[in-house]
Amino acid sequence: MQKVLSERIINLEESQTLEMAAKARALAAKGVDVIKLSLGEPDFFTPAHIKEAAKKAIDDNFTFYTPVAAYPELREAIAQKLSRDNGLTWKAENIVVSTGAKQSLINVVLSIVNPNDEVIVLAPYWVSYIPMIQLAEGKAVIVNGDIKNGFKVTPEQLKAAITPKTKAIMYSSPSNPTGTVYTKSELKAFADIIAEHKDIFIIADEIYEYICFEDEYFSIGAFENVRNQTITVNGFSKGYAMTGWRVGYIGANKEIADACIKMQGQFTSATCSIAQKAAYAAITGDMSVTKEMKTAYLRRRDLVLSLLKDIEGIKTYIPQGAFYIFPDVSAFFGKTDGKYTIKTSNDLCMYLLNEAHVALVDGEGFGAPECVRISFAASDEELKEAMRRMKEKLALLK
Ligand code: PMP
Ligand code: GLU
Repeated sequence: MQKVLSERIINLEESQTLEMAAKARALAAKGVDVIKLSLGEPDFFTPAHIKEAAKKAIDDNFTFYTPVAAYPELREAIAQKLSRDNGLTWKAENIVVSTGAKQSLINVVLSIVNPNDEVIVLAPYWVSYIPMIQLAEGKAVIVNGDIKNGFKVTPEQLKAAITPKTKAIMYSSPSNPTGTVYTKSELKAFADIIAEHKDIFIIADEIYEYICFEDEYFSIGAFENVRNQTITVNGFSKGYAMTGWRVGYIGANKEIADACIKMQGQFTSATCSIAQKAAYAAITGDMSVTKEMKTAYLRRRDLVLSLLKDIEGIKTYIPQGAFYIFPDVSAFFGKTDGKYTIKTSNDLCMYLLNEAHVALVDGEGFGAPECVRISFAASDEELKEAMRRMKEKLALLK
């Protein structure tokens, strides 16, 4: 008898971030006071002027299908932003808006990757990259950054991973899950390597651009020698606290942009018309709320770092962006409190969820099974209490 489900879906991993978030929600629904540091999303409300624009869009009956890549003024505004902030000289025709950066990424991957093509992924990586490559029947080639080097991959490592089958390199900076930010000179070294191979694309996921604690944020696509090869992915979820609105975008050469429009035209069409108007208000509006949120994340990073330093067995480093820290917890492997035995970071996450009522995500899905991801997009009080509970319960592991 035939299986009901396709091999494709049977072999697809469930998103570990979403899975852990669901477990935390289920426990909370039973009345347990769970501190959720699992799902990576801002705990701030969407700024008022953005919400007003959406209300106006409804009242103005902006409720019809828009062109697949978004209504023209939004594409134009994004092109201007990329030119102004990132040195990327794309026109509106190079911009494709999607239902979240997640869809932008899968559009790109499905548009360029053939079966058995290799995609170099800088690790630790965001959980959904590998399943996306798998859906395209490509092969992920993992290049590991070391915690001792702030999780950064070196140009030598990148060079060594390139083969005639390499189709793309894919990374996020600031990184989910590590918060690592590649500097201009580090990106220049990457660009100079990739520029030697005109058939390799750079998929640069810049969704945490506005949550960067370094003095300078740099986009690799601004280097002229890789301009045409770089597909810049960004979105509104993180910088404007708009996760539920579902708006992401790419800036890329016209062949890639048109391919993504074709792909999206068969899957979902344009994203929600009302969310598009909200995104327009965000990208053309006052950035002070975004800056305030960044200041809060920086304060929380320092708070979490100082509290984690007090927990024996947790190895940290300094994240330079995003709202995650990804410490090494392998010191706990092999330990037990008498009831739970910790063999993996997943065991540790389940122990902390059930005993400390703190939800984290294990490092396995990010390509670093010795780590756990802590999101510090939560209030100072929640973070203090979560670290207190973790310290208490981790001390019981002998
Ligand atoms: N890239 C990275 C690195 C992410 O952390 C996320 C999760 N928000 C996304 C892309 C997708 O974001 P969204 O679909 O909400 O725009
Ligand atoms: N990107 C966020 C995270 O990594 C949201 C969840 C998701 O889209 O997977 O937690």
